[in-house]
Amino acid sequence: MKLPLVQSTPLQAAEGSPSAAQSVASDPHGMAYENPLFWDRAHADKEIERVFEICNGCRLCFNLCPSFDVMFKRIDALDPHASEAEGKHLDASHAQGMIEETEAKSLLAKVEVSTDNPVHLLAQADKDRIVGLCYECKLCYPKCPYVPPHEFAVDFPKLILRYKAIDAKEHGIGLREKFLGATDLNGTLMTKIAPIANAAAHNSFNRMLMEKTLGIAKDRQLPDYADQSFETWWSRRAPVEASARTDGKETPKAALFPTCFGNYNDPEIPKAAVEVLEHAGCDLTCPESVCCGMPKMDCGDIEGARKLARRNAEILLPSVREGRKILSPGPSCTLMLKQEYPELLGAEGKELADATIDLSDYLLQLGRAKILAKPTAPIGKVAFHVACHNRVQNFGYRGRDLLKWAGGDVTLVDKCCGMDGTWGMKAEYFEESLKVAEGAARKVEETAPDVVAADCPLAGLQLKQKTGRTSFHPVKVLRAAYRGEPLRSPAPGTKKSDSQMR
Ligand code: SF4
Ligand code: SF4
Repeated sequence: MKLPLVQSTPLQAAEGSPSAAQSVASDPHGMAYENPLFWDRAHADKEIERVFEICNGCRLCFNLCPSFDVMFKRIDALDPHASEAEGKHLDASHAQGMIEETEAKSLLAKVEVSTDNPVHLLAQADKDRIVGLCYECKLCYPKCPYVPPHEFAVDFPKLILRYKAIDAKEHGIGLREKFLGATDLNGTLMTKIAPIANAAAHNSFNRMLMEKTLGIAKDRQLPDYADQSFETWWSRRAPVEASARTDGKETPKAALFPTCFGNYNDPEIPKAAVEVLEHAGCDLTCPESVCCGMPKMDCGDIEGARKLARRNAEILLPSVREGRKILSPGPSCTLMLKQEYPELLGAEGKELADATIDLSDYLLQLGRAKILAKPTAPIGKVAFHVACHNRVQNFGYRGRDLLKWAGGDVTLVDKCCGMDGTWGMKAEYFEESLKVAEGAARKVEETAPDVVAADCPLAGLQLKQKTGRTSFHPVKVLRAAYRGEPLRSPAPGTKKSDSQMR
């Protein structure tokens, strides 16, 4: 299938063409990839100042992430009126509230009038730090009252991404970013030598070398590789025909997008999905797909992400046109397919986005339609962590609802885990990432759960690093309940009373 997509970079494609002028006119803030302004450093610098000024006036996101925290602290430190605002220009008697009317004149003489906007005083290093500390959780977008179509047109995460994309275009993609973005290549190689690769990732000397050469934090717990990918497992499995329904209901038709993590690191996630979906009588396929492109987007490699998106569209659209839903167990991958593909691929991206659905959401719909029966074994007390990339999709907390529907006593852990894709793996952000995760880890421990569940496997990894408890994707918790072997996430040092399946 040939997709009608540009092969050149957006800037090359758009420059000088009539559509370039149209893009600039319809998108004066330069936020669309096809708009030549998007790639214009000077324009992006002005946009950063414009948006930072709006944020400085608003400050609604003051406690949302390290990026806003640093921005507001730096602006306050640079504010020419900071000392007056804090009362530091007053002498001791004034500070004690003993200001006399007659002293007002001398007081005013000490006040320097300045109309400088402190945002303009931010140095390039300040801006780079603010950009670097944004881990693209996107939580500020739904919170912001000024997102398009508001005339202020604030899209903070997109602006940060734009900055990274311009950097990547001007200076190339760094070695670490190339490594972290090559999930399929890494996965294909590492699954072939999984025991060696996993041992190397646990070896402190190797980890020190990795930190020095690739900038991946030596103390970050990395996910193991499986010795067989999900796709290999699926290709060797005898096909299972969906049995004809006897209840008059339509047979659900779906195609599973296993995600890189599910394919190479934890194939038990898509395998559990297959088992549960087949239990519901679903007509299921698992086409060979590639990475959704999110890791490449995260480092500003828009064209690299577009290539992967185009490949997935070629693979998955035939399934969509057969009337199948595309099921994704990974919140970031689902967000990528639903939110970014329409922008990267146009109409065909939109067609794929419209057919894509979060796996837990789909299973819950099957459950509520009584197509999927409830498990009979108890699930127990669950601490369910909801990923930021699920929260921003605004479809509810379906992983939590699915486990509640299945009989779990579920407490929601709705605090950012600070992992955010590969951000928390980077040496310079590792400590910050652990700090962000403190609230989520505390909530998990307060819950004293039998089992920890997380729809994002990297969030699960972070929670494990903070609490020592293993966390599981909701579909694995559900499969275990069907099997009558409930999963458990004991705190380190406590007795493992129940099964500890992967
Ligand atoms: S996307 Fe997340 S990390 Fe980035 S600025 Fe918004 S809230 Fe902060
Ligand atoms: S992103 Fe929006 S809500 Fe957040 S501080 Fe900026 S203007 Fe305010």
